[in-house]
Amino acid sequence: MPTLSQVIIFFGPPGAGKGTQAAALSATLGIPAISTGEMLRQAARSRSELGKMLERVMASGQLVSDDLINQAVDERLRRQDCQAGCILDGYPRTVAQARFLESLLQQLKLPEPVVFNFELEIENLIHRIMRRRHCPKCGRIYSVNPNAQFIRCQKDGALLVQRTDDSPASIRQRLELHKNTCAELLDFYRARNYHEIVASRTPNRVSEQLLAHLGMRMPSARVASYPQAAMAHAGM
Ligand code: AMP
Repeated sequence: MPTLSQVIIFFGPPGAGKGTQAAALSATLGIPAISTGEMLRQAARSRSELGKMLERVMASGQLVSDDLINQAVDERLRRQDCQAGCILDGYPRTVAQARFLESLLQQLKLPEPVVFNFELEIENLIHRIMRRRHCPKCGRIYSVNPNAQFIRCQKDGALLVQRTDDSPASIRQRLELHKNTCAELLDFYRARNYHEIVASRTPNRVSEQLLAHLGMRMPSARVASYPQAAMAHAGM
């Protein structure tokens, strides 16, 4: 287990497997995985005026404002559990957010981030998103047969649900947005601690790539921690 703090950014289109890998790497490194999308979905569930506004923005596939997301990340990174760093999944998504994060990390005396860019072809992304379900109780992500109904979480038995923004129209909009914003953001990070990840490989192979860049080996118990792989193999 590394003793130095680490800040890791997962960048990539929706459906590239960032959430699955963030959960696994979080367990390996002992630092929290922070998904700004998940933070927003939680806020949206409150049904306050802000929650309803967030729900609309997310369902349309657009980004929420830089100010709002920067403020949420600022609050989150100041919490005790981020003292040794964190994995950021889905943040930053704009250059303004990247600049904000840079100064926040300096203030918090955290190191410069290691950036992983998950790359996957569009057909593969759409295929994966249409199969994506998650447990509303524990947040585990699964890949299922899209026609199967009433599938339960292997951990706590809750019925799996589909994200409301995983509709075909919203998926197209989010993929388009990612394509348009990614060049500028990658220019910002490419000259730094930046690595491209072949995200079409199996979850274990993707984990190996990430760990190799971090100078680590795959923990032996890892295979069992990928529920989506297990379900795919079970033909679900
Ligand atoms: P994700 O779970 O990362 O796919 O994010 C779901 C939705 O949350 C996105 O389509 C955006 O509407 C919003 N969102 C998540 N992260 C950000 C961010 N860093 N900046 C702006 N909007 C975000």
